[in-house]
Amino acid sequence: MIICKTRDEISAAVAELRRQNKTLGFVPTMGALHNGHLSLVKKSMSENDCTAVSIFVNPTQFNNKHDLQTYPRTVDADVKLLEGIGADIAFVPSVETMYPEGLDNVTESYDFGFIGQVMEGAARPGHFNGVGIVVHRLFDLVKPDRAYFGMKDFQQIAIIREMVRQCNINIEIIPCPIVREDDGLALSSRNTRLNEEQRRQAVQISQTLFKAVGLVGEKSVDEVKEFVISTVNSVPLLDVEYFEIVDGYSLQTISSWNEAEWVVGCITVNVGDVRLIDNITLKK
Ligand code: AMP
Repeated sequence: MIICKTRDEISAAVAELRRQNKTLGFVPTMGALHNGHLSLVKKSMSENDCTAVSIFVNPTQFNNKHDLQTYPRTVDADVKLLEGIGADIAFVPSVETMYPEGLDNVTESYDFGFIGQVMEGAARPGHFNGVGIVVHRLFDLVKPDRAYFGMKDFQQIAIIREMVRQCNINIEIIPCPIVREDDGLALSSRNTRLNEEQRRQAVQISQTLFKAVGLVGEKSVDEVKEFVISTVNSVPLLDVEYFEIVDGYSLQTISSWNEAEWVVGCITVNVGDVRLIDNITLKK
């Protein structure tokens, strides 16, 4: 596996692959890799000649300093994991490499419209702009044929698709299913920050979402929404920030089940100072 740190290194590695007429898949990550990330890498490896993975904790997408400071960083272990499963390139840039102009001088600004204003967009001002900036810069450097994103960050996929559309970027965006622990908790780098009791209670997030699927049709949209929020909030260490039932394509909230073909329930829960997100398809 080639490990690239600078713009010149990644550009040279990609140019060499292109010289060999190889197709390239790309998985952007913030590291602290787990099986969710690795499922994206494996899917990319099965669909492309070569796969590049970036590890970069992107400061511009954190609206909360504490979250950025405490975000788990395990680069050496991550690189070993990627080498172990046979990834071809690990791109591990510094903040200076990604933002040579300095973080205070970053000027790109995206308008994603409605899909950027709801849920995570409303709760984390500037978050999706930062995601758009870093993913666009990574796409420019890595120039992949396909890029792989997890459905765990459901809204992020809509944002990336919109950015690719607005900027006329010729990269296929491939959504990948959520990987969960055996008990249902969605894998997340942030799970490592949960203490034992928080981890034990966090399972109620996904378990409640699974139960909600069984209520579709039998109960109204509002009743299901109320069920999820009150059930999760009844768990002592869990605090629902929002739960929305939305059209999976437009992200508009719906008020009856037949209003949308694809209906997704999106939840964010604070467990102490750890913010966990999850979502589930309620109807398709
Ligand atoms: P992150 O490192 O959190 O920015 O995530 C990098 C990529 O991995 C994103 O596309 C995430 O959606 C994806 N990802 C994170 N957790 C999971 C999971 N549990 N299942 C599937 N994909 C995931």
